[in-house]
Amino acid sequence: VTYQAPLQDIRHVLEFAGLGQTWQSGMDSDLVDSVLREAARFAEDRIAPLNAIGDRVGSRLVDGTVVTPPGWKETYRDWSEAGWNSLSVPEALEGHGLPALIQAACTEIWNSASMAFALAPLLTAGAIDALAHHASDELKAAYLPKLVSGEWTGTMNLTEPQAGSDLSAVRTRAIRQSDGTYRIKGQKIFITYGDHDLSDNIVHLVLARLPDAPKGTAGISLFLVPRALPDGARNDVYCHSLEHKLGIHASPTCTMVFGDGEGAVGWLVGEENRGLNCMFTMMNSARLAIGIQGVGIAERAYQQALDYARTRQQGKAGGSPEPGPIILHPDIRRTLLLMRSKTMAARCICYATAAALDQAGRAEDERERALGGELASLLTPIAKAYSTDIGCEVAHLGLQVHGGMGFVEETGAAQHLRDSRIAPIYEGTNGIQAIDLVARKLPRSEAALGMILAEARALSDEIERRGGARSEKLAGRLAHVADCLEQATQYMRDMQKAGRDEDMLAGAGPLLELFGVCIGLSGLTRLHNARRGDEEMEDLAVFFANHVAVHAGALAETAMAGAIPHIRLP
Ligand SMILES: Cc1cc2nc3c(=O)[nH]c(=O)nc-3n(C[C@H](O)[C@H](O)[C@H](O)COP(=O)(O)OP(=O)(O)OC[C@H]3O[C@@H](n4cnc5c(N)ncnc54)[C@H](O)[C@@H]3O)c2cc1C
Repeated sequence: VTYQAPLQDIRHVLEFAGLGQTWQSGMDSDLVDSVLREAARFAEDRIAPLNAIGDRVGSRLVDGTVVTPPGWKETYRDWSEAGWNSLSVPEALEGHGLPALIQAACTEIWNSASMAFALAPLLTAGAIDALAHHASDELKAAYLPKLVSGEWTGTMNLTEPQAGSDLSAVRTRAIRQSDGTYRIKGQKIFITYGDHDLSDNIVHLVLARLPDAPKGTAGISLFLVPRALPDGARNDVYCHSLEHKLGIHASPTCTMVFGDGEGAVGWLVGEENRGLNCMFTMMNSARLAIGIQGVGIAERAYQQALDYARTRQQGKAGGSPEPGPIILHPDIRRTLLLMRSKTMAARCICYATAAALDQAGRAEDERERALGGELASLLTPIAKAYSTDIGCEVAHLGLQVHGGMGFVEETGAAQHLRDSRIAPIYEGTNGIQAIDLVARKLPRSEAALGMILAEARALSDEIERRGGARSEKLAGRLAHVADCLEQATQYMRDMQKAGRDEDMLAGAGPLLELFGVCIGLSGLTRLHNARRGDEEMEDLAVFFANHVAVHAGALAETAMAGAIPHIRLP
């Protein structure tokens, strides 16, 4: 198999996440089904078959221009001509105006088919968001239409050799010109799709510093720097080299040089020295999309492992006198259920985040919009970090199911593991997401946290009322996870109030995981509840409770263990 979009699972989770709420108006069931079916068809027939070639051939730098692997260019052209690039772009910007929730489902499908392919539009979407919110009307008119249609792509230029997680160290310079433009000079590294042959222009969004800017993040501005200038001339920006890397070989990771000559011509986006604010618009939508990459790669790895486990004959299992497929062995079944239940849990979290974004942007009632915004902001770091960790873990387990055939490249299981590994690193490492969660989001999210805890407890009561040993166990685990989360979040608040940042930050990672476990288990339980009689949904919820959520107490203890000692050298 290459890939088959799991439309039924996606449909269930869309309903769980609130498709059909008032703010999703206009989304009738037939429209949702037809969008998903068409996305699945394109992904399965056109994108998924390119994934292995992309890995083997990779993007190459030829005579100063990046050349993508065979088939990439034509597929990107057909994909954007079919309108997929503008699915959730507002109608006012000539997009299709569909909810973020439907976009989330399609983003998952593109990423399962090929993470390296899906990255180009993922960055374009972020650029559209940032420009739509912060650019002048002139810039919007000049650049948005072709970004929305996908004729041009967007990039995000933050990182420099000395400025990775810490963007206050950005050194790229911007010099004001008398005509209102700026000249940009500097070097950016690790720029995804910084150059390529998929489109005839690339719109770079670049963080840079004015000569008189204050130090630190308060002195960073955002500029739009196109590869081709409005008169068609080539701007002073080029790709100096490509990184050789562990995975996503087809996605070019470029070292970009701005202003080797006179300086690259750029236009200010938003206000001077407020660039990081504008960039955050782009980064938040991109962070959810990266979380969805985790779901996508996990789904692909699971499908492949399941297929292998059904066909690989080895050993006798289940009392059979003859050798049978390895799927009959309890350890392989446990592994596959771990893969599947974690993938579904991550899907629930990411789609719930997208639904919260829709609520924030589309609900009529102001209070509902505010609550949606608070929920989306709390959930975004969890969706990014928990789901990308799951992407790696599931890809790793998928390789193990293949035995030796997983370690050799022929089956493709190894590619999923290699590709998955970048997602916990870029768009803010998962460590940085955890800090964002405890230090910034948690103190401002009392109502959202209350909703998460209340939902887990209400589901626990509901399941308990059904009776039976399995339901009681599931109900007990849910209630326990909610108690653990409440205790650990209270600890973080206490530490922050007491100014004990070291104690708080040391437990940030385990707290983020505990959040993921709680929301994931609630999601799986809600799916099981909504689909009575669907034994597989019950199996997934109970399995996740017994094999994953069972560690909630340990996660809470680790989250509250306090400051980490400094490394003592011998
Ligand atoms: C394939 C690829 C594609 C990329 N695409 C882009 C792109 O398109 N645009 C772009 O601008 N960048 C891009 N990046 C850069 C990426 O976003 C950075 O690599 C990432 O933000 C981490 O920065 P760094 O590599 O400098 O690591 P560092 O910041 O040096 O971090 C190293 C380690 O220290 C930890 N750490 C750092 N600071 C703290 C702290 N304050 N508290 C606790 N822990 C900390 C980190 O979590 C990490 O584990 C890409 C990178 C790669 C590899």
